[in-house]
Amino acid sequence: MAKRSGKSGKAGGSGKYVYFFGNGKADGNRSMKDLLGGKGSGLAEMTNAGLPVPPGLTISTEVCTIYYEQKAKIPASIDKAIAENVKKLEKAAGATLGSNTNPLLVSVRSGAKFSMPGMMDTILNLGLNDAAVEGLKKRTGNGRFAFDSYRRFIQMFGNVVLEIPKDAFEHEFEGVKKASGAKQDTDLDESALRQVVDRYKKVVKDRSKRDFPQDPQEQLKMARDAVFRSWMNPRAQEYRRIYDIPDHIGTAVNVQMMVFGNTGDRSATGVGFTRNPATGKKEFYGEFLINAQGEDVVAGIRTPQHIRELEQVMPKAYKQLRDITTRLEKHYKDVQDFEFTIQDERLFMLQTRSGKRTGYAAVVIATDLVDEKLITPKDAVLLVDPESLTQLLAPGFDQDEWKKIPAVTRGLPASPGAASGQVVFTADHAVEWVQKGKQVILVRRETVPDDIHGMFVAQGILTATGGMTSHAAVVGRQMGKPSVVGAGALEIDERAKQFRVAGKTVKEGDFISFDGLTGEVKIAQVASKPSEILQVITGSLDAKKSDIYRRFDRLLAWADKHRRLGVYANADLPDQAELAYAFGARGIGLTRTEHMFFGEGRIPIVQRMILSETEADRRKALDELLPFQREDFYGVFKAMKGCPVTIRTIDPPLHEFLPKREDLMVDVAKLETAGKKGPELEEKKKLLHRVEQLHEFNPMLGHRGVRLAITYPEIAEMQTRAILEAACRCNKEGIKIVPEIMIPLVGIPKELKDQKAIVDRVAADVFKAQGIKIKYLVGTMIEIPRGSLVADEIAEDAEFFSFGTNDLTQLCYGFSRDDIGKFLRIYQEKKILEKDPFQSIDTRGVGELVRIGVERGRKTRKDLKMGICGEHGGDAASVHFFHNVGLNYVSASPYRVPVARLAAAQAALSVKVGD
Ligand code: PEP
Ligand code: MG
Repeated sequence: MAKRSGKSGKAGGSGKYVYFFGNGKADGNRSMKDLLGGKGSGLAEMTNAGLPVPPGLTISTEVCTIYYEQKAKIPASIDKAIAENVKKLEKAAGATLGSNTNPLLVSVRSGAKFSMPGMMDTILNLGLNDAAVEGLKKRTGNGRFAFDSYRRFIQMFGNVVLEIPKDAFEHEFEGVKKASGAKQDTDLDESALRQVVDRYKKVVKDRSKRDFPQDPQEQLKMARDAVFRSWMNPRAQEYRRIYDIPDHIGTAVNVQMMVFGNTGDRSATGVGFTRNPATGKKEFYGEFLINAQGEDVVAGIRTPQHIRELEQVMPKAYKQLRDITTRLEKHYKDVQDFEFTIQDERLFMLQTRSGKRTGYAAVVIATDLVDEKLITPKDAVLLVDPESLTQLLAPGFDQDEWKKIPAVTRGLPASPGAASGQVVFTADHAVEWVQKGKQVILVRRETVPDDIHGMFVAQGILTATGGMTSHAAVVGRQMGKPSVVGAGALEIDERAKQFRVAGKTVKEGDFISFDGLTGEVKIAQVASKPSEILQVITGSLDAKKSDIYRRFDRLLAWADKHRRLGVYANADLPDQAELAYAFGARGIGLTRTEHMFFGEGRIPIVQRMILSETEADRRKALDELLPFQREDFYGVFKAMKGCPVTIRTIDPPLHEFLPKREDLMVDVAKLETAGKKGPELEEKKKLLHRVEQLHEFNPMLGHRGVRLAITYPEIAEMQTRAILEAACRCNKEGIKIVPEIMIPLVGIPKELKDQKAIVDRVAADVFKAQGIKIKYLVGTMIEIPRGSLVADEIAEDAEFFSFGTNDLTQLCYGFSRDDIGKFLRIYQEKKILEKDPFQSIDTRGVGELVRIGVERGRKTRKDLKMGICGEHGGDAASVHFFHNVGLNYVSASPYRVPVARLAAAQAALSVKVGD
């Protein structure tokens, strides 16, 4: 996902806190997302464009910040500004809050810079009171509608503002329904609804110990504050944590004249996209409900109708909607996600914003918009969230397997991808099961914002109701999580933890699978298969046969034109290097040579090397390892076709190559009790003895990295020889290779000097024997804070630096990379840390060490080549930082290379997606 920046352009203390929109003119515009939030800036922009937008006002995000700074108080001057704008709104609307002849009703909605669907609170129909409801009846001639609106308002206000549980209201509602023999909500007439209102007011009085507030100005203040409070509710906080949205940016509040989609059969409400958000296909896409109010569509309570049907029932409004949304797409040069309401056949636009989309759709849309000449290739590069590219690499089902199994039902394909796992029915169970190492599918009638933690960990989300824009669909798509929604045939019984479909019962823990691209659901565990893009990359599918691969490739080629940073990969073996090259890596930033020691047949030799008591024995074992290493290096060089390859000498503590001490102790004890004396027992005892000798209290701070090669120079000699012999061979075969030999964990300049002498000596030897001389570089990792601090001295010997941000983070914070999991979550919950610093670079602390290393290194050697090979090299936000700090390249794991390519281009164009 794109890392979210909160700060850009937020005009601190602008002095203006309330922004009006109405009558074709707005105080704000689209560039003011920081202050007005996404919704507020969109409403302003649409108003300025002359679209039919109900008038209103936006209370800026700065007021939210003030609300929290001043301990839930709003200064009188801001209250005054709000009141003045409300007066303006009354004038524009031609109606007055609380009037008993022509009352103005407003909605009060949250709206942050980044959309957070359903996470915060909304209040509709505000302004109604005992007098205004009669006024609404008079104006509309519809008493039923007036009292239904009033009861909805009391319920929402009671729940959101006064924090009275929904059940308390629902209980009364059901009571009246029963007493009047009504089957459906719509069967209740005006007098029944008047009763509901009376009962609701009593609930408010009983629960909150006060009367339901009758003064609309007071209602408005209370609602506004409740929306501000909802910014910090647990689910909103969880959402921000997942999507990396900072807490401090706050939400705006939009107060807008209500229009009604529920005045009868000539009214409707709906949502839509200008293109299909799941597949990216250019098709008008959306859903609506006749005679319904705002949230009914998104909440997934009723399954809505396809937007096409609107053309039949209200052709004029449909045509107008198509025209407006086409204009909006052209204006914003991006897919729009819009909300509308039709009141008595009159269309109103309530929202427009860039549509959230799957990674798949993002690539399709970006390339289509270029082909349609709506945007340039450079715009396309900025349109796709780098993180979303990983979705395109996710596996799909093996179609042969998949076809063999009959589908039990088919839902709406809300978010593509293959999902297979065990059924769970609650978000909490999903989390529990996943913690136990299981893969789960979260099956719900519909999801609600509180389910977010379960959705996050599940393989996929399957719901029985709701449409393509229901909560499950929107959130699933955004997470890149396979989702099928509205599978109406599922009869879910959450209490019994089972569902029935097609005459079969599926219990919690049973396996199901579904395809998020077709909507098919099957009762089976089905193996998946690599994505189409991966098939092309690995050569099992012809690029000509894959439309999505060609689009992906075009987009990344455009990105490559704009980036300054090189993108390398971390790869240890030839096949990984090939994959990395195919993904577009044009260099290897890190080959961890020790990983090669785990190859077949090698571990016994490595162990023999470690167990050797004399240097001579050690050299013998190393001689045996040499050909293996040389062959691997040769393979990596060849795969990279002459691109730079950085090979690091041995790094981990030696005990990692030996069996565990506890296992050996058990083996020895077993042999001894069985009375088995002889060479096997002796071997084990010797091994145990050596393991005990090598035992360290803090191995990651111990005898590892350059320290090993200083104590056992013969290891460095062997590795250097293997690297250079392989490189000589390549050069003789015509592949020009300049190997870069990298010494890990250097913190003392003399450590590097010591190793460089070895490398140079071995090189001279090899060149003499090979009869050729090639260029090579000797450099170091900067991964110890001291290394950064003395980088000027280190650079006297180093010909390149590679920042090892994994160890640098570990040592800068003093957090063990292997143990942070024990407390990270709690740190995040307590807001001590916002992000996992091992995932996204801590720019303030660890980043400062990088900056110092860069500056001091370049002081000594002006054009010192510098890169980074820690995990952060594949993280989009970190890539921005590395670009800004002036590195030459980032090195990421092969699968993250596309992310890094796109992020590097966006960094060069200096924009983050979402800003
Ligand atoms: C690092 O420390 O960032 C690094 C790349 O090395 P390793 O992860 O192998 O310690
Ligand atoms: Mg390291």
